[in-house]
Amino acid sequence: MENLYCLRCNRELEAGHKSVAVYMFAQTVGIRPRQKSSAQRICFCSQCSVSLAMGPPPEGALNIAAWQMIRDLVSADPALNQAAWETLRGVEELLAATGTDDGPARGYFEF
Ligand SMILES: [Zn+2]
Repeated sequence: MENLYCLRCNRELEAGHKSVAVYMFAQTVGIRPRQKSSAQRICFCSQCSVSLAMGPPPEGALNIAAWQMIRDLVSADPALNQAAWETLRGVEELLAATGTDDGPARGYFEF
């Protein structure tokens, strides 16, 4: 499976990573035979998705269309905000580390 990267911050999105995927394809209209391009998948990590949605509209018709779709997702349910918050806090990394780390147990209160 190919590795995916956040379009905005270039963070690598591993399998199962909470993110938003925007799918895009083009299709001819009123022309026979009808042609359809291959679909492109554009990914944003949860932090960038929330950040984009909270921010001002970008320039460009395609960017605005994508921005509105991401805003729909972010405003519909707090799950994406929660995912972004967890990433920011590094909770996911801490949880993953406790499962595989052979070193001394990492305490939550060590800074
Ligand atoms: Zn990102």
